Amino acid sequence: MPGQRHVEPDSAFYKTLLESTKAIPWSIEWRTMRFTYIGPQIEELLGWKQDSWLSAEDWATRMHPDDRELVVNFCVSQSQSGIDHEADYRALTADGGYVWIRDVVHVIRDENGEVDSLVGFMFDISERKRNEEELLRLQRELEALSYKDGLTGLANRRMLDMVLEREWASARRNMRPISLILLDIDFFKQYNDYYGHLAGDECLKRVAQLLQGASRSQDLVARYGGEEFVVVLPETDLAAAAAAAERYRELVVDEMIEHERSGIGLHLTISQGVGTIIPGESDTAADFIAAVDKLLYRSKQGGRNRVTVPD
Ligand code: GH3
Ligand code: MG
Ligand code: MG
Repeated sequence: MPGQRHVEPDSAFYKTLLESTKAIPWSIEWRTMRFTYIGPQIEELLGWKQDSWLSAEDWATRMHPDDRELVVNFCVSQSQSGIDHEADYRALTADGGYVWIRDVVHVIRDENGEVDSLVGFMFDISERKRNEEELLRLQRELEALSYKDGLTGLANRRMLDMVLEREWASARRNMRPISLILLDIDFFKQYNDYYGHLAGDECLKRVAQLLQGASRSQDLVARYGGEEFVVVLPETDLAAAAAAAERYRELVVDEMIEHERSGIGLHLTISQGVGTIIPGESDTAADFIAAVDKLLYRSKQGGRNRVTVPD
């Protein structure tokens, strides 16, 4: 940064950093399995005093019994193999409740390459989990309510609006990225004209199935209109969203759906636009969709069967 003075950070600097992050830092000495540090923020989150965290045993004990065995075994085996890892689990609070935690663990090795210590951060992900559970519940209700597109079985526009509104608010509140993929079948008018409307419908169903089958459970795949689809990817950065879009593109190509009247080959293809945003106060979901739609348009202009991300 211009004008910045280069001073060595002193321990007060580190202490302030460690104690003021929302994530809670900790470290464990591998040989003794004892905590050498845990941030004071832990008390506010879980209620247990900072100095009550002595050993890995305390960590394992203060975990939901349904999560404990799986999470402890996983973390121990990853650590033994020297692999950085992360785990989600419900941590027990001092008053007997549970908080969803994501523990991100780095393995530190000594000069001989042996595991020396584990250093990590605990994140409070209860809101994220609540959203996921809410999304699951909504998906279960899809059938009963009219949130479902009649032809493809995907979420419809109404469901999309609802989920997007909720995820948008959550992303803004937590300053987390949310990604969107807009996807449009290439030369679909010609497909309809040549193969007939019924075949067109079957084709839409097939594409919908491919998209749904290739998507994570936390992502929402919706039919946006005619031969256009939208995927909402919460907590997803641009690289991961672009990779998902590329996967969809390849899946459709590999499906080899005959399309003799396609302007660019003999099989069906899709064009996509991908965008990511950490929504600020003045950003709106509608503007974001419009921006991603421009990227989709660039995929069309650029020759179709491609994914366009922001410059
Ligand atoms: P581009 O590559 O630029 O996207 O061209 P396109 O032909 O795919 O786009 P255009 O918007 O011109 O045509 C979309 C066509 O999709 C028009 C319409 O006949 C067809 N379509 C829209 N909804 C349905 C549907 O529910 N069933 C069927 N069979 N066809 C549909
Ligand atoms: Mg279209
Ligand atoms: Mg089209």
